[in-house]
Amino acid sequence: MRKTFIAGNWKMNMTNLEAEKFIMGLGDSYKNKNNCEVAVCPPVTALLSVKKLIDKYSIDVKLGAQNMFYESSGAFTGEVSPGMIKELGAEYIIIGHSERRKYFGETNEIVNRKMSAAFKSGLKPIMCIGESLDIRESGRAEKFVLNQLIECLAGINEKNISGVTIAYEPIWAIGTGKTATSKDANEMCKAIRGRIGDLYYKDISEAVRIQYGGSVKPSNISELMSMTDIDGALVGGASIKVDDFISIINY
Ligand code: PEP
Repeated sequence: MRKTFIAGNWKMNMTNLEAEKFIMGLGDSYKNKNNCEVAVCPPVTALLSVKKLIDKYSIDVKLGAQNMFYESSGAFTGEVSPGMIKELGAEYIIIGHSERRKYFGETNEIVNRKMSAAFKSGLKPIMCIGESLDIRESGRAEKFVLNQLIECLAGINEKNISGVTIAYEPIWAIGTGKTATSKDANEMCKAIRGRIGDLYYKDISEAVRIQYGGSVKPSNISELMSMTDIDGALVGGASIKVDDFISIINY
């Protein structure tokens, strides 16, 4: 049985103080009736204070970061290493988000290097893949996404793959209000699982969690979560509204 995993990607939102307020608000009204695994991924500037509050008030939420570099230290001005993230209390790391691919030139090769670096430092990756609207409309979505999967996982061994969460995020659904139909999203998640089975073993593919991401909100989460191969959600916009995030957790 795969435990449902709902993660909130705050993106470049919330100062440290705002993040503290948010997490206190979340703690005040927190319920987790489905017993999901829940994580929040604030900007790096708020990781430590969010972690301290989660621990202080025993809020059942894990911590993730949104990005890191693959080197462990050195002359890389402005970058943050996996070890630095880990030391602040993060357990998860989002890798290869489409916004990083689009605005910061991240390629599958860079994502792959970050994956290896995450494992080395003991961070659990949430690895994002997904197609653009052009690719979907030209009928090449599955081929494109499975190729991303293969290139991003190159050289990742069996021991590490079961700790990976894959986030299938069609780019055209991110921040647009358009959600993939639950049937289309599930088909892609199923194809991803199938390919992980080909690359490793079926048992491993059955254990890997695959999230859907793209305009997830309280009104569409239940249907998405009723699908066979969708094991959770990576939530952007709706994760920075306490009430919406709680409704999503309690779909
Ligand atoms: C995301 O940031 O990963 C995301 C899916 O954003 P949104 O939910 O806002 O579409």
